[in-house]
Amino acid sequence: MRKDDCIFCKIAAGEIPSTTIYEDDLHRVFFDIAPGSEGHCLIVPKNHYDDIFDMDEKAGADLFALATKVAKALKEVTGCEGMNIVQNNGSIAGQTVFHFHMHLIPRYTGDTVNVGWVPGEADMDKLSEMADKVRKAM
Ligand code: 5GP
Ligand code: ZN
Repeated sequence: MRKDDCIFCKIAAGEIPSTTIYEDDLHRVFFDIAPGSEGHCLIVPKNHYDDIFDMDEKAGADLFALATKVAKALKEVTGCEGMNIVQNNGSIAGQTVFHFHMHLIPRYTGDTVNVGWVPGEADMDKLSEMADKVRKAM
């Protein structure tokens, strides 16, 4: 499953070079070309999925299993103090490459990474109602 003119399909297939950390039949892990911090890398499935909404659960489970391994190795090598795992879906959410990918962003004291939101106030009645609806939709 690949999409014409998708840069990550080409990188995943090795047709466009990348600094690859790891590769298997289903994934390629490589350093981000514009890193937010030292060691910022991307985990990309070789199959094309536009985003998480396009992806099957097995592919998601395989990818997260790999992310768990890579995160630990990356922490060991970089000596980072923490790590953000970021995964954007849709332009509204900051996605710029429309082939599913997961960012692993090591964190260091004094870095310039900014992953955040303004905390809101929870309406407990609304939350319960939404919890029921989402559970039914699952
Ligand atoms: P998004 O904003 O879609 O979550 O993230 C896309 C990421 O892909 C960005 O952090 C960007 O720097 C990275 N990126 C885009 N094109 C390339 C490329 O050709 N090679 C590599 N290694 N990273 C890329
Ligand atoms: Zn693709």
